[in-house]
Amino acid sequence: MTLADYVIGQYKCPQCGWVHIAIKREFAIANNYDIPRLEKCFRCGAPCVGFVAVEPGDAPMLSTLQAVVLKDATDVGGA
Ligand SMILES: [Zn+2]
Repeated sequence: MTLADYVIGQYKCPQCGWVHIAIKREFAIANNYDIPRLEKCFRCGAPCVGFVAVEPGDAPMLSTLQAVVLKDATDVGGA
């Protein structure tokens, strides 16, 4: 399995600006991740449904990002 198989993209919390990497729910379930904890901002606890797509420069490349699970990928990242 490669990164592209489970990574949706990078999203940031609109409340605090923290950047997370969104992973597919199926992947999180298959790996016994703590889904409820991943459905909110790692930093401030805001729900992931309000997350917005990351703009270039928001997060340093190759930095370690906290994973989140989106309820529905269509909920976020609207152009
Ligand atoms: Zn936050």
